[in-house]
Amino acid sequence: MFESNCAHPDSYYDSDADLGLLTGKKIVFLGFGNQGAAQAQNLRDSGIPNDSILVANRPDSYAEDAKSKGFHVESDFKKAAAVADILFVLIPDQVQPRVFNEEFAPSLKDNATIVIASGYNVFYKLLNFKPSQDVVMVAPRMIGSSVRTLYEKGKGFPCFVSAEQDGTGSALKTALALSRAIGATKAGAIASSAREETAMDLFAEQALWPNIIMLFNQAFEVLQEAGCSDEALCYEMWMSKEPAEIFERAAEEGFVTQLKHHSSVSQFGQLNGALQLDGSAIRAHFKDILYNQVLNGKFCKEFSKIEQDLEKDGDANPLNALYTKHAATPLGVAEAGVRSRLAGLL
Ligand code: NDP
Repeated sequence: MFESNCAHPDSYYDSDADLGLLTGKKIVFLGFGNQGAAQAQNLRDSGIPNDSILVANRPDSYAEDAKSKGFHVESDFKKAAAVADILFVLIPDQVQPRVFNEEFAPSLKDNATIVIASGYNVFYKLLNFKPSQDVVMVAPRMIGSSVRTLYEKGKGFPCFVSAEQDGTGSALKTALALSRAIGATKAGAIASSAREETAMDLFAEQALWPNIIMLFNQAFEVLQEAGCSDEALCYEMWMSKEPAEIFERAAEEGFVTQLKHHSSVSQFGQLNGALQLDGSAIRAHFKDILYNQVLNGKFCKEFSKIEQDLEKDGDANPLNALYTKHAATPLGVAEAGVRSRLAGLL
């Protein structure tokens, strides 16, 4: 279902990648933020000469940061585009279509490789590429600071890799060389696609986590109505950080195996309860979100209509309005009260 356009194994390692393919190429980083700063430094530390790397950034604190780390910086995007053999697009997803399409695409070489770190704009076809260009995804599953610190420790990090458009015939090989250069193939980079990455990302954001938030709200209200205090509930449910510890152990030991750290009463209650629940209604709901909201582009179309309103102040900003709505729920009101009573003590 989530096939990319390349035949590939499940994971790629350092031995699958040839750094030599990057020799003599001009590598431009559009953006020096979370990912840009980390990936550019990793790439240079992997032996790519500093003179082969150019950071394209507006003249501000990000540009100053790049200069302080010894990088060449170009603020004229057209000039940066014209010299790029490889262009990492590492600015926020929502500004990529305008900046790339208007300021980079017209001057990019016909055989340039464009590297994206998130599938969204490619899957929804919001970026304009020439058919002769390569488009690859190298998408770390980590925040930028971890991409850098893991590299410095000599460790790899999880990363999705794919060739989305193979204009030159060597898109995947270039993607693997770049993945190795930023340190992503050390622990095995996972073969994926922009479609798979987007589907999983948006599914988590629009199906899984909304349900988890809803479940916490409902659980909170049921227990509050049963007489549990706001203080006890907030700590019991999340402020003690127990859920964070459970997820950490799930990542390290196993999603369900971590239950063994709990009492027998807890293990029995959780597993027996989960296995008895009928998931068919939620499964149908999940499929509806995946197919009729994410994969068919409905969400992307609707989000693009409200995107400009996210710059507005107050409740004219739809995101602010959602926070205001949440703040009025019993959980929101209770947590605000608990936090104000604890102010200065936490
Ligand atoms: P950041 O928010 O850190 O990007 C900041 C950079 O973008 C700065 O260099 C900033 O420079 C530049 N920028 C912002 N707005 C504009 C604009 N309008 N025009 C030109 N440059 C602009 O981005 P991230 O590193 O978080 O994300 C980059 C990509 O990596 C995205 O595709 C994201 O999905 C992906 N990704 C991010 C992860 C993360 O942990 N953050 C994890 C994995 C992938 P200035 O404002 O000076 O112009």
